[in-house]
Amino acid sequence: MKIIRYLDAGGKIKFAAQQPDGTALEIAGDIFGDFKITRQPAAVKKLLSPVMPITLLCIGLNYRRHAEESKVPVPQYPVLFLKAPNAVVSPGDPILLPRHQRSEEVDYECELAVVIGKPCKNVSRDRALDHVIGYTCANDVSARDWQLKRGGGQWCRGKTYDTFAPLGPCLVTKEDIPNPNALSIKTVLNGEVMQDWNTGDMIFDVPALIEFLSGSMTLLPSTVILTGTPHGVGMARKPPVWLKAGDQVTIEIEKIGALTNPVAEERTA
Ligand code: MG
Repeated sequence: MKIIRYLDAGGKIKFAAQQPDGTALEIAGDIFGDFKITRQPAAVKKLLSPVMPITLLCIGLNYRRHAEESKVPVPQYPVLFLKAPNAVVSPGDPILLPRHQRSEEVDYECELAVVIGKPCKNVSRDRALDHVIGYTCANDVSARDWQLKRGGGQWCRGKTYDTFAPLGPCLVTKEDIPNPNALSIKTVLNGEVMQDWNTGDMIFDVPALIEFLSGSMTLLPSTVILTGTPHGVGMARKPPVWLKAGDQVTIEIEKIGALTNPVAEERTA
């Protein structure tokens, strides 16, 4: 099932289930608890990120060739950093280039996003996917100058500017993606394919990440896990490719769909 989150004409936030014919039917209840699909057609005024996460747990360097292009060793344990909910934006919303605390090196990263559906702590890898509600596309937008040169060794500063976590376009429930580590994943920038790989190549697969993360912290419903990006990021290109105003970035994942965001400059006045 594909679940969307949206604003209706009255400004209410609702959920709906997309139908094979392209329409959507309103969902009554809580997608993280009890809910049912009604017969009421959804009147979508604006598509929203499919969840508003309580937190975003992000894994760095989780594909071998991306670790190589970043000129760092393949990690022995998953590399964890956080984005805060302020960074989340919806399909079609602009990614804002920081112009106050300025960045000149804003980059894209296509990532499979795992959405936790049930609380979990100390879960083993064979039960890990029981706690997942589904999957969506994410763009782990990164200000490389603040991430790598001015962050004191911490990545969060460059990773969690406002608008740096586009999510969408829908949440595909886990029944439709029995194996999250067998999906093609790509970034298309202004029509040009920049990253094109497969989630089967993760160093730590989705069950391993849930086992690892839940081993130190309780994962609550609506937690989003960004699972890392494959090679082909802008910083590793010669010359580097940085996002600029007027760009269009699309993240595409097999069985989920396409998440497109324009790029604009932050207004500081
Ligand atoms: Mg990333």
